[in-house]
Amino acid sequence: MPSKFGFIYHEDFLKYNFGKGHPLNSIRIQMHKELLELNSFFNNPNIKLISTKPCSDEDLLTVHTRDYIEFIRKLSETGVGSVDDKDTPAFKNMFEIAKTAVGGTITAVDEVMNGSILHAWNPGGGFHHAKQDSGGGFCIFNDIAIAIKRLIKKYNLQRILYLDIDAHHGNGVQEIFYDDSRVFKISLHESGETLYPHSGFEDETGIGDGEGYNINIPLPIGTFDEAYIHIIYQILPLIAEFYNPQFIVLAAGADAHFLDPLSHLQLTSTTYIRIAELVHGLSHKYCGGKCVLLGAGGYSLNATPRIWSLIVSKIAEVELKDEIPVEWRSKYNEYFNENNAPIRVVDDNPPKIDPERYKKISKYVDEITNRVKENIFMLYGFFKLIK
Ligand SMILES: [Zn+2]
Ligand SMILES: [Zn+2]
Repeated sequence: MPSKFGFIYHEDFLKYNFGKGHPLNSIRIQMHKELLELNSFFNNPNIKLISTKPCSDEDLLTVHTRDYIEFIRKLSETGVGSVDDKDTPAFKNMFEIAKTAVGGTITAVDEVMNGSILHAWNPGGGFHHAKQDSGGGFCIFNDIAIAIKRLIKKYNLQRILYLDIDAHHGNGVQEIFYDDSRVFKISLHESGETLYPHSGFEDETGIGDGEGYNINIPLPIGTFDEAYIHIIYQILPLIAEFYNPQFIVLAAGADAHFLDPLSHLQLTSTTYIRIAELVHGLSHKYCGGKCVLLGAGGYSLNATPRIWSLIVSKIAEVELKDEIPVEWRSKYNEYFNENNAPIRVVDDNPPKIDPERYKKISKYVDEITNRVKENIFMLYGFFKLIK
């Protein structure tokens, strides 16, 4: 029988917006939610639509410095200026709105830990770039790190598996837990050689107690379904088997999709379905089902609502009709080029892969998979031998 699934939602999620022309358009959350509604998703007795509220300043302080929190509070009053002088401009009321995003992820972990649901999804969360004393990459407060800290402090968990499939490296989460073995961090992303935040290389493996508990899989431009699925199916079950997680957190950014305007990976709906199946299976095998999923990136309004809906429907075990309802397509038509609204929820026209590139990427993926597997065996094999 499917487990209880919580969909966390607050109307302020739609106000997390940096203005016209900015790549992050929170309409994606509404488009995604309505696609599910048109599939009668919320009528399913196993699905709970759960509201949330802004987190407290104390919650922010578990990760962020007081100075940084005050900096955002001031920016928020006028809406003038910038979080990082680059692509994350200030907007009015951003303090409250960013706190609601964090509140959503806190609600997600609390609802799972108190047993009212087993899986939770916060499409308004996943701000993996925010660090203790700085924001950037559209991220203000790091809801993921705050929720993980809560799992450790309030619920006394010792083994949390964090998987980040967003196209960008999860640098904030990595940095905050870099010396901490209580969080096993795995990020698959486009290489920092070609994409923001220009970090996340293979040799960033953690320090101190956290040594070995940080895995980065930087991917070349053009990485395709088969290669990605190969890596994740080789590595994730192995880590889960050794680490025996008590809780899984997934940053489910959809920006590694081939239609995404910011990244250069070539994934289709096939990969996301396979990841959802894998993560769902592992959550039941090791964590009694406990997992929380967060929206994170995804800048194609064609791809992101569909990909998120596929992930959610797989994990909630609710059927999603393959055809996208006409009402949805006409309502959001203005967001699609030349009336090119998607017709099916899965990808109809996956990109063709050049044979040379196919060979090159396949070879790279085989090699990095083997190196990472060796490191995992070293981490666990070695410690077992000296015990
Ligand atoms: Zn389940
Ligand atoms: Zn991203």
